[in-house]
Amino acid sequence: MHKHTLTELKALLDGGKVSARELTDTFLARIESLDGELNSFVTVTTEQARLEADAADAARSKGEAGLLNGLPIAHKDIFCTDGVRTSCGSRMLDNFISPYDATVVKKMRAAGAIMLGKTNMDEFAMGSSNETSFYGPVKNPWDLSRVPGGSSGGSAAAVAARLAPAATGTDTGGSIRQPAALTGITGLKPTYGTVSRWGMIAFASSLDQAGPMAQSAADCALMLQTMVGHDVKDSTSLDRTADDYLADLDKPLAGLTVGLPEEFFPASLDGRIAELTRETARELERQGAKVVSVSLPSVKLSVPAYYVIAPAEASSNLSRFDGVRYGYRCQDPVDLMDLYKRSRSEGFGDEVQRRILVGTYALSHGYYDAYYLRAQKVRRLISDDFARAFEKADVILGPTSPEVAFQLGAKKDDPVTMYMADVFTIAVNLAGLPALSMPGGAIDGLPVGVQLIGNYFREGQILNVAHRYQQATDWHRQAPAFGGDK
Ligand code: GLN
Repeated sequence: MHKHTLTELKALLDGGKVSARELTDTFLARIESLDGELNSFVTVTTEQARLEADAADAARSKGEAGLLNGLPIAHKDIFCTDGVRTSCGSRMLDNFISPYDATVVKKMRAAGAIMLGKTNMDEFAMGSSNETSFYGPVKNPWDLSRVPGGSSGGSAAAVAARLAPAATGTDTGGSIRQPAALTGITGLKPTYGTVSRWGMIAFASSLDQAGPMAQSAADCALMLQTMVGHDVKDSTSLDRTADDYLADLDKPLAGLTVGLPEEFFPASLDGRIAELTRETARELERQGAKVVSVSLPSVKLSVPAYYVIAPAEASSNLSRFDGVRYGYRCQDPVDLMDLYKRSRSEGFGDEVQRRILVGTYALSHGYYDAYYLRAQKVRRLISDDFARAFEKADVILGPTSPEVAFQLGAKKDDPVTMYMADVFTIAVNLAGLPALSMPGGAIDGLPVGVQLIGNYFREGQILNVAHRYQQATDWHRQAPAFGGDK
């Protein structure tokens, strides 16, 4: 049962072949027996999940089944969940029980989804390996000595190991797509402003965006359909008519133009990843698409620009954690300054403190123009590059990650090397575009992800392209041998 995709499970539920309660118990049992090794969950909401499942079954019997009725999912622990600890992977929020649901959580709950629990993540979503979590690293189910990617590494590992059929994630610089690539699943970062950020703990507000992580593009479409929508509680949420992401999934690719950016295939890129990406392009060609070359010359500046903008915004967002209002408070402070200093020094881990220092510096008088303003100008150049590329191509194709899952500990003490894990994903966040990562092959038994970038609001189009690709290939159906499955 656990091997089915979300879409297949929905059909089983809709056909009366399985109940929400049976399905929920199946996944809870898998988490119970297997997550000790993976560490993909911070909190498992067993009792609540069973109650929700029974309620979903009751709603269905009254003919009131929502789109996700009875489907168990996991939420990244960055989303506020009413009455349930919301830690954001940090000691700072280890004791924080949210008094409300994030909009994403509320919408999925209203559609009938069952929350299995909260997934592990890099602290405040800062990282690419899940090693900055206060709760310890998550292991990659394909090889337990390797990282699952980050920061949504818990969600990615849980879905890859089939401990949950699908999960939510957030992506500020690649945190949905890179872990999806490293664990062999499909993940989508929507256009900025499409999914409400309300109740999602803020990292870098102009870049953060929530999205689905699942086994297939069709599953992501199903989740996205529920996640999107205007929200008056988020001032950057866009008010536009709803798209139907499921309607065009099967549309043939004839007439589609796929752009391959030369900058995404540098000489330094692992030749096997480059070849698998090109092979993906050939598959799309076989289905009638035309492949052209495009250029994104400013993309090489995306990592440096991001590591000014994201820390700047983080330093501002994280100033609310002061040891006074909520979250961690140090023992026996001697005065108010001591309370602030020690609560923040003890409550935040090293990477978070590094970002706060860098961000505060970049925003300070005398440095603002040299760093922050300049980074914002680079951001504009990157958006302009994409705008020109989308005049030639409908979608852009490239690798998601420059390498497969790396060993735990390999980059932990070398922040700049760690930051390069997102070289192919960050530009998309700076431009606010939608992008998806899907499995496109394997190297030595480890999954390789390929990335499809769409123009603004073209989530439906990249989901369509990914779905067509997944109809013709079976990389997305490969699961790790973890848990005695093979
Ligand atoms: N790895 C990047 C960072 O550490 C992106 C993280 C994210 O998308 N949340 O900032």
